[in-house]
Amino acid sequence: MTTSSSPARITHWIDGKPFGGSSERAGDVFDPATGQVTGRVDLADVATVDLAVAGAATAAEAWGEASLAVRTRVLFRFRELLDAHKGEVAAAITAEHGKVLSDAEGEVTRGLEVVEFACGIPHLLKGGYSENVSTKVDVYSIRQPLGVVAVISPFNFPAMVPLWFLPVAIACGNAVVLKPSEKDPSASLLVARLWAEAGLPEGVLQVVHGDKVAVDRLLEHPDVASVSFVGSTPIARYVYETGTRNGKRVQALGGAKNHMVVLPDADLDLAADAAVNAGFGSAGERCMAISALVAVEPVADELVAKIAERVATLRTGDGRRGCDMGPLVTKQHRDKVAGYVAAGSEAGADLVVDGREQEFDGAAEGFWLGPTLLDRVTPDMSVYTDEIFGPVLSVLRVASYDEALELVNANPYGNGTAIFTNDGGAARRFQHEVQVGMIGVNVPIPVPMAYYSFGGWKSSLFGDSHAHGAEGVHFFTRGKVVTSRWLDPSHGGLNLGFPQNA
Ligand code: NAD
Repeated sequence: MTTSSSPARITHWIDGKPFGGSSERAGDVFDPATGQVTGRVDLADVATVDLAVAGAATAAEAWGEASLAVRTRVLFRFRELLDAHKGEVAAAITAEHGKVLSDAEGEVTRGLEVVEFACGIPHLLKGGYSENVSTKVDVYSIRQPLGVVAVISPFNFPAMVPLWFLPVAIACGNAVVLKPSEKDPSASLLVARLWAEAGLPEGVLQVVHGDKVAVDRLLEHPDVASVSFVGSTPIARYVYETGTRNGKRVQALGGAKNHMVVLPDADLDLAADAAVNAGFGSAGERCMAISALVAVEPVADELVAKIAERVATLRTGDGRRGCDMGPLVTKQHRDKVAGYVAAGSEAGADLVVDGREQEFDGAAEGFWLGPTLLDRVTPDMSVYTDEIFGPVLSVLRVASYDEALELVNANPYGNGTAIFTNDGGAARRFQHEVQVGMIGVNVPIPVPMAYYSFGGWKSSLFGDSHAHGAEGVHFFTRGKVVTSRWLDPSHGGLNLGFPQNA
């Protein structure tokens, strides 16, 4: 591995400014397209996490009391600033994650949509009011912020995933401690600066870089009320179990294995385009990527040929050079994914396109692996059972709709799925019967809009609240119900019986 002459130091963001601890550990940050170390990110110790939480707790008191008008104005200003700086944030993402620039801009846009949703917070926080539930007694509901909330995010969407939570949590009146992925930490700092520029009071958003040490401290800190986690399933399960054991509200979104079912009556050109876009976009490092294509016979031969034809036109290389697909995030991850390709081939799958044997438009030291297509994969192969998180599309051949459904429902993950068909009845049956949280009908990556909620089923989500939309607002607030009577001259005197409506 090459090391550039002077990697930049990447520090925390605490109380409205960069914060560099002195005796902390640090981790390497790579440019995946060059293989070079471009940054050294501080990895927080317990004292730094405690400092960030303490600042957030102080800030949360005032911010939670700020009027809806004040909070909304900050959100609108942040929306404008993020839109204006979209290119800068995207460039930071490409430099550390590797995804191509257009894709990086796309993720910022999806994050922006959550900000736009949160701009409507006065409407979203309206409670109910029932007049005269009993004679001259009214009942009404209000929702209040939790206080300090933690957000722990994965490497694959360094801007979008934090933005699934930050705008809603902040709009609801909370202060947030964000612990981004240590693999690509810079985008979160740009976002934090833009919040500050938008007028967010210091301490309302703290960014603490780190690893397990920081996560564990957030999970046990008595002043952290909730944890929103996104990452792989084993860590999501751990975060959920540890956080809830410590009395916190937790939503922990985990890994995925997303199936795309193609029925015999589907438009195969549309299906082939969708499979390539959803299988290889962002080098397959998306939690909603399609990794298992389930072809209901007799379409498999024709569909595989169409996909292979399209894959041959893709250009893999440096995300700043207008390529279709970038490198993988680290060398270690690249090698792990290549290992799955070898294992699939050894287990008997047909290696139709081998991503290990391609040319790349980038530095020789980049973490390259081209799009890979495996046919005749069976459910027992590791290339199917495991979440690979790389540019590997596996084709499984089945004889009927029922067999396809059974396969999808038997899988432990339940994040996203798609069905390709021209039969409305079949699509309707699928959306009803499939045990998955987000479903596409002739749409391969059905990521819900910000005003709906994002989340999977089974091992793809631990907890009961999905991200953003109404569920996000609910997660970041807690309810009170007030029963109120204002005395008037008809006041009825003492009555020790249990209150009943009259
Ligand atoms: P990861 O689980 O390795 O890391 C996620 C976060 O957990 C990071 O902030 C990391 O620092 C922290 N972490 C890592 N190891 C830890 C440990 N032992 N203890 C405590 N914290 C730890 O995930 P990743 O590789 O960054 O991201 C890819 C994964 O995220 C994939 O599995 C993908 O499916 C999943 N993901 C899911 C969704 C979703 O919405 N369900 C969205 C994006 C990504």
